Amino acid sequence: MENTILGIHHITAIAGDAKRNFNFYSNILGLRFIKKTVNFDDPGTYHFYFGDEIGSAGTILTFFPWGDAIPQGRRGSGMATEIGYSVPKGSLEKWVARFEKYNVIYNKPAEKFGQRYLTFLDPDGLKLELYEVETDDRKPWETDEVKADIATRGFHNVTITLNDITGTAGVLTDIFGYKLAGQESNRYRYTTDTVNAAAIVDLVELKDEKRGHVANGTVHHVAFRVKNDEILMHFREKVAASGLQITPQIDRNYFHSLYFREPGGVLFEIATDNPGFTVDEKLEDLGKGLKLPAQYESRREEIEAHLAPLN
Ligand code: ZN
Repeated sequence: MENTILGIHHITAIAGDAKRNFNFYSNILGLRFIKKTVNFDDPGTYHFYFGDEIGSAGTILTFFPWGDAIPQGRRGSGMATEIGYSVPKGSLEKWVARFEKYNVIYNKPAEKFGQRYLTFLDPDGLKLELYEVETDDRKPWETDEVKADIATRGFHNVTITLNDITGTAGVLTDIFGYKLAGQESNRYRYTTDTVNAAAIVDLVELKDEKRGHVANGTVHHVAFRVKNDEILMHFREKVAASGLQITPQIDRNYFHSLYFREPGGVLFEIATDNPGFTVDEKLEDLGKGLKLPAQYESRREEIEAHLAPLN
């Protein structure tokens, strides 16, 4: 049972201004800011992590704030186009009031697969959704303004838009163990029964949709969760055996990762639970300090001087 994909691990997107991104997700959406670090491949850029109290897999949304000088990205095919969070039943009207108060762009609540949801945009135009979920046992992170009656519980689903879902569906079912659970017009819902939450991937098929462009306001990649390194490497073999190119294991300090581009063009990652976000900060201090991987520690002064302060 454990030798499986355990739903979504994290989702990584691109933002513009770092401080605006930090304010939106920590103050308006009420997520915990669990890690302030840099892009390990480009230490001149922040890498922010938001999640629940300890940064549990299935709650982690991360950003590379590239700054506002970079042109906007464009949602399109070959891309994760919507990020869905789980919220308590009856909370959408309170979220609407909150979005009104903070000038957040949103749509009227609607229904998908029998569930009420509310679509909204972050300040960079990234599309997110809040789904009223009947039962979600995950413990929410609470802030002064966002209490348990409305707080997000972590991811509900992610939506991927494709010209043709066949190849992507094949990865989900044949490699990751997901099953087709339902269809509403051109939306195909895939779920895994290995976890109770963050278990849904929706594939939307739009034959003529233009290819998306990854930049500010779009999703960079979607990471799927495995228990440990041994299972990670088991999936490396499975992906490679299917004929897809996959990276060696990469150490991301808070988890260990593999990356591959699925046939529909979306960058997928597989990431471990270990070692987690308390590897370099105590639980109560998560997100407080700028944490650098060992290879950049000697350049801390130079790196810090280059990054915009957040408050
Ligand atoms: Zn990632």
